[in-house]
Amino acid sequence: MTFRPLVVGIADLRRNPGTRRQFTESVELSGLAISSASVPEGASIDVDLELESLSNGLVATGTITTPWEGECRRCLQPVQSRSVAKVREIFEPRPVEGETYAMADDMVNLEPMVRDAVLLALPLAPLCDEECRGPAPETFPTGSVIEVEETEDDTGPGPVSDPRWAALADLDFEPDESGE
Ligand SMILES: [Zn+2]
Repeated sequence: MTFRPLVVGIADLRRNPGTRRQFTESVELSGLAISSASVPEGASIDVDLELESLSNGLVATGTITTPWEGECRRCLQPVQSRSVAKVREIFEPRPVEGETYAMADDMVNLEPMVRDAVLLALPLAPLCDEECRGPAPETFPTGSVIEVEETEDDTGPGPVSDPRWAALADLDFEPDESGE
């Protein structure tokens, strides 16, 4: 039988709704890739969660840190970095497809949730450096890339967002200090 580090016994949590337990594990998962980046084979993904039992389910809150490798979209050089995904996901005996994850009475398999979080955290357009100008900036200027400029007299709530970038903004899992 294969050791599955993301299958977690939760009988103790289920007995007392509202109780919490930390779950920290480093795991290797294969086959995690999107067109622009992938998790190297054998690389460790750090799963750091708090599991809290609900009256009829479980909520997992925390971060999933994944190493990735890809190609800089401007200079095409190899890039390696790490991304942190913040997660807050619900597990229940009768999951809603696309919204919650499945669990059993006394155990839960966190792997599908971790896989989803890793895939969402991989960069759609990796850069070796924010300042990268590509291999031939004169011939192939990168001026079409939208840059956020900071101004002294900016009194607004923030830069006006381009709707085309809204989908990308949804993928922003940078930790924020404000909490939930
Ligand atoms: Zn580059």
